[in-house]
Amino acid sequence: MEQKKKYIYDFCEGSADMRTLLGGKGANLAEMSKIGLPVPPGFIITTEACHRYWEEEDFISSIWDDVKEAVARVEKLAGKKFGASVNPLLVSVRSGAPVSMPGMMDTILNLGLNDDTVKALAEAAGDERFAYDSYRRFIQMFSDVVLGVDIVKFEERLAKARENAGVKADYQIPADELKKLVADYKVIVKEAGFEFPVDPWKQLRLAIDAVFRSWNTPRAITYRKINKIPEEYGTAVNIVTMVFGNLGDDCGTGVCFTRSPSTGENKLFGEYLINAQGEDVVAGIRTPVPIAALEKDMPEVYSEFNRIAKLLERHYRDAQDIEFTVERGKLYILQTRNGKRTAAAAVRAAVEMLHEGLIDEATAVSRVSPDQVEQLLHPQIDPKAKRDVIVKGLPASPGAAVGRVVFDADEAAERGGKGEAVVLVRPETTPDDIHGLFASQGVLTSHGGMTSHAAVVARGLGKPCVSGAESVKIDLAAETFTVGGVTVKKDDYLTLDGSSGDVILGKMELMEPQFDDNFRELLDTADKVAKMQVWANADTPEDARRARAFGAKGIGLCRTEHMFMAADRLPVMEAMVVAHTTEDRIVQLDKLEKMQEEDFTGIFEAMQGLPVTIRLLDPPLHEFLPKIPELVKALETLDPESAEAEKIKATIARARELHEQNPMLGFRGCRLGMIYPEIYEMQARAIFNAACKLTKKGVSVIPDIMIPLVGTQYEMKAMRELVDRIGAGIIEESGVKLEYMVGTMIELPRAALVADQLAEYAQFFSCGTNDLTQTTFGYSRDDAEGKFLAQYVQMGVFKENPFAQLDRDGVGALMQIAAEKGRSVRPGIQLGICGEHGGNPSSIAFCNKLALNYVSCSPFRVPVARLSAALAAIGEIK
Ligand code: PEP
Ligand code: MG
Repeated sequence: MEQKKKYIYDFCEGSADMRTLLGGKGANLAEMSKIGLPVPPGFIITTEACHRYWEEEDFISSIWDDVKEAVARVEKLAGKKFGASVNPLLVSVRSGAPVSMPGMMDTILNLGLNDDTVKALAEAAGDERFAYDSYRRFIQMFSDVVLGVDIVKFEERLAKARENAGVKADYQIPADELKKLVADYKVIVKEAGFEFPVDPWKQLRLAIDAVFRSWNTPRAITYRKINKIPEEYGTAVNIVTMVFGNLGDDCGTGVCFTRSPSTGENKLFGEYLINAQGEDVVAGIRTPVPIAALEKDMPEVYSEFNRIAKLLERHYRDAQDIEFTVERGKLYILQTRNGKRTAAAAVRAAVEMLHEGLIDEATAVSRVSPDQVEQLLHPQIDPKAKRDVIVKGLPASPGAAVGRVVFDADEAAERGGKGEAVVLVRPETTPDDIHGLFASQGVLTSHGGMTSHAAVVARGLGKPCVSGAESVKIDLAAETFTVGGVTVKKDDYLTLDGSSGDVILGKMELMEPQFDDNFRELLDTADKVAKMQVWANADTPEDARRARAFGAKGIGLCRTEHMFMAADRLPVMEAMVVAHTTEDRIVQLDKLEKMQEEDFTGIFEAMQGLPVTIRLLDPPLHEFLPKIPELVKALETLDPESAEAEKIKATIARARELHEQNPMLGFRGCRLGMIYPEIYEMQARAIFNAACKLTKKGVSVIPDIMIPLVGTQYEMKAMRELVDRIGAGIIEESGVKLEYMVGTMIELPRAALVADQLAEYAQFFSCGTNDLTQTTFGYSRDDAEGKFLAQYVQMGVFKENPFAQLDRDGVGALMQIAAEKGRSVRPGIQLGICGEHGGNPSSIAFCNKLALNYVSCSPFRVPVARLSAALAAIGEIK
């Protein structure tokens, strides 16, 4: 007989490694039960059931008997009965996907209450106020989440109850007032067109249905898109015995990270509220107190919690984010998961756990993502600059943000999406605001703690956030806020410092972030784990120094034409380009040679001991041709017979002659060196002179000379001979010993296809994937993006722009051919990449597969590339 598919697991049947099936929350609850931690009894309906729910009408009916049996088992463990009129069992019904999606899907607490069970609960707890408070919470939550009733009416009625009772806080509302409140809540539900279900089993069934449904709400779909969470995961449903943090002053509830999620400091970091339920902490309605206060309030509970927190961290070998409740002095753990953290916290925790021996090097590296490294390179406010601080809130997510104030999430999404810098200001945020947060530079809230929604989401997105700035009074209708006598209007500039909590009026200058020791150590660890090195594309001594400071192990591309972009050099370069005769060209080249030698000297000094790959001139000619309209204009002001005018006329004629229809496929790269060898000879002289002079002074110089846009063996052979000839002369003359290599770029499909022929003369290859992408697809690298490529990506022709993320099937296949053919002739030939893809994590993973020796990218991307190379080596990115 075919075995019946199992859709329900009791906590004692699961474990942490079943997160795909049980969801993260369920798998961890099961794991904690297994290791003997105080978890309230419960069971899990699997993510597979979620799939079936979406495929099959009335799927829940088919598992309903199993749900009932599971509830019966929970009843036994809890010693309570669901729906009973004595000592009733109440449950929470919570979503839980394989990866955490905080606040995105639905939760229902206190399920099982009705007019009978509430009395029984009051009796069992010996507290009528508590029972009716739970009941009114349940009606509100259930009506909101399951029935979809607008909660504003409930909130208004609740405010009235406070007013009637003459109290400030909900927990001070007396039982009698709560009873009236409950009766009115039911009326609100009725007026909204629903009958509130009194049967607990009906409640349970509707709640399960709502959780499955919540997988596909627009906000959940948006969250998955932003966080690249696969649609096919689905959510599990956790049904857990309720424990109560709101039974009195020996009760409470809280959330706690085992290490600071902002800085990574190894110290409990959390918040709790005495006499409250979990939603009070998360929603930011009451401002919770720091966890350290628990030591005073409930010393035994604190020490038990501390023990469990340490145990969980050791068990999972990662910083945990724990939810707990204390019911009448007894601690319960309701959830644990790997804590979301800022980039800085991720780095510090990884490095410190490595030191503590908790994790190994590869694991430490895997704890940080390329995106987080990127965030660490985000700007900060200059510490020396004067700050006009109008208020200080909680430093909820670090980094600095500058932008115009916007009060509405939709507007923030719209304006931010168009590239405008906006700062979102809200009383608090909800999951429905996520699109606005995503498009903002940062967020300011007047309510909510460090674990409020805004704080958690902003940290995840790497957005600066200041939360809980309570003295900020926001008038959403007028689109203004006031604080300490200052009124800030929509569109005013605001600067947030999410690291200090400072809110600053106006637009502060931001400065580049600094490397700290933990960051440095993590990247050094990444280098040990990685198989490939990371080099940098650097054209100036300053670039080279920055690249080295960021940890580059060489220069993979020095574009010599970039050296001529400076205002004082461009005219010389232009004159060289339009020179009519070799003699004229040599006059200009002599001037350029001196400049080049200085540049190379600076770069070699900055990189001493490390290889420097210098690419001989590859100017797309049009970038260096004098602008004809400007010359024509100049001509108009001159006597047509004058010598000056004659000169300009000749230049115009020459510029016309050199004009190309398709300059990217034109007279570029080594074609220039072939036709005007004096240009490459000049450059080779400058390189060898700089290298030999420095070698004489004891500086270790490793020059690799790279020939661009080679497509034939003839070119490679000729250019190699040219460089060797110049090199031999200068080296001999200076009497030093200098090792160097001559290699080529792989930028043309033909170069890849005849790489074996090239390798007879080329001592190394570097894949120039900018041109290789251009020439493989036949898309112009200058124009395609704006003309059609962006639409192509939108249409789904490509997942990503192939100029940003390597096209593995086409360009990648050519690289593979080049690597194989190169190695067949010259085993161990040095292989690298220096196109823009060298700094892109996915492309780096592909290079790792080809076992390239290095990837080379712009200095600012070097840290991201170092981490990516390590992650690729351990299979974390593929
Ligand atoms: C390339 O083509 O990938 C390359 C690095 O050279 P450039 O971008 O200078 O053409
Ligand atoms: Mg190129």
